[in-house]
Amino acid sequence: MASLNWGYDGKNGPEQWRNLYPIADGNNQSPIDIKTSETKHDPSLKPISVSYNPAASKEIINVGHSFHVNFEDNDNQSVLKGGPLSESYRLHQFHFHWGSTNDYGSEHTVDGVKYSGELHIVHWNSAKYPSFAEAASKADGLAIIAALMKVGQANPKLQKVLDALSAVKTKGKRAPFTNFDPSVLLPSSLDYWTYPGSLTHPPLHESVIWIICKEPISVGSEQLAQFRSLLSNAEGENAVPIQHNNRPPQPLKGRTVKASFS
Ligand SMILES: [Zn+2]
Repeated sequence: MASLNWGYDGKNGPEQWRNLYPIADGNNQSPIDIKTSETKHDPSLKPISVSYNPAASKEIINVGHSFHVNFEDNDNQSVLKGGPLSESYRLHQFHFHWGSTNDYGSEHTVDGVKYSGELHIVHWNSAKYPSFAEAASKADGLAIIAALMKVGQANPKLQKVLDALSAVKTKGKRAPFTNFDPSVLLPSSLDYWTYPGSLTHPPLHESVIWIICKEPISVGSEQLAQFRSLLSNAEGENAVPIQHNNRPPQPLKGRTVKASFS
């Protein structure tokens, strides 16, 4: 029942999530605004290392508030290592956030600047936990790489994902999505900011080590329109496009955002 009781508008919107999920007011919530003058360069931070097997790519699913591309994750064929992480984290899925216009849509902002969208590549701590579900609520359970999406040139790397959306137009639909390495979506520089945070929608677990790429990736205006054409309703119901699905920035509450670069 809870999953039907949150959304991104009005009486179900982010301001109301605290009624069902009190952790919404917790000390480690995400996203945040990254104030670059207050970030701290940490020379001990290692480079990010991603090694993804395209054969692990499995399916695309419309989850009603977004869509997910899911990966086979019963072994370590696709992993994220390095950066702020002391263990290797296994690839689970990726998804995007966007806005109803090109003026907003990212979850993280940088010095108050909103981007038009944001990519999240989600990994779980398979060295310590038996499954994504177990890891998802643990403080060191998840690691998410985020890339901010700047509107401009159409991004050819996104096209395979966008072309798959027509097969999962309505909530609950799923389709095979194979032979894809999501590292192609990342920017050329893997300089990053990192901080301890949360899932950005219910259940809002404070279980995420965030790794946010400094360099944005590009997205075309028509490509953003394709994201917005996805529907939040089930097949046969009135068409309700997923216009926006970004939570606004949350208070930093004394956390330090570290930078891998100076
Ligand atoms: Zn996300």
